[in-house]
Amino acid sequence: MSTFEYPEVGTYKLPKKNVLVISCIDLRLTDNLLNFLHFDNLTNRYDHFALAGTSLCTTIETNRKHFIPKMLSDNGNFEHWRKTLFDHLELARTLHDIRDVYIVEHADCGAYKAFLTEKKLKEDEKKCHKEFAVSLAKEIHEKEYTAFKEGEEDAYYNINVHCFFIDLRGNVSYLESLHKADRPIKKKEIS
Ligand SMILES: [Zn+2]
Repeated sequence: MSTFEYPEVGTYKLPKKNVLVISCIDLRLTDNLLNFLHFDNLTNRYDHFALAGTSLCTTIETNRKHFIPKMLSDNGNFEHWRKTLFDHLELARTLHDIRDVYIVEHADCGAYKAFLTEKKLKEDEKKCHKEFAVSLAKEIHEKEYTAFKEGEEDAYYNINVHCFFIDLRGNVSYLESLHKADRPIKKKEIS
């Protein structure tokens, strides 16, 4: 039986709490994604949000020039995709104390082919996915989230975000992390 290639141990800090996983809907890689999450000791420790193109359509406002114009005209407003994702992040955080997000992009993504210009698609595939994944990762990470737990009502923290790319054989490569301390809860400034 073959084994999959995954990022080396120590490449990023493994989550100590629960995780929200953001992936594409692609049916070819469902089992491969689960294998990777099990490898990272996340079995039954993650909420899963799937949308076509993973990060792609949540970042349109900051990356419009890379999208085929006709995909953005008429009914091409994808703001509700982004809003739905962030609503679910907030819900997952409330229910399960999410402190890390995994953004798992993948090779040969149909949504990328449908939405992006020829020029953009000619770029290195992994580099292209990294650009959109990091764009979403920044938006998630740079926000300050209020803690819910008793005694932490007046504290806030940042969510760690780890970006990956999975190929059609199920191998996973690391793209980037936006990570502060393990538990960077800070007291709010008294105004
Ligand atoms: Zn896809």
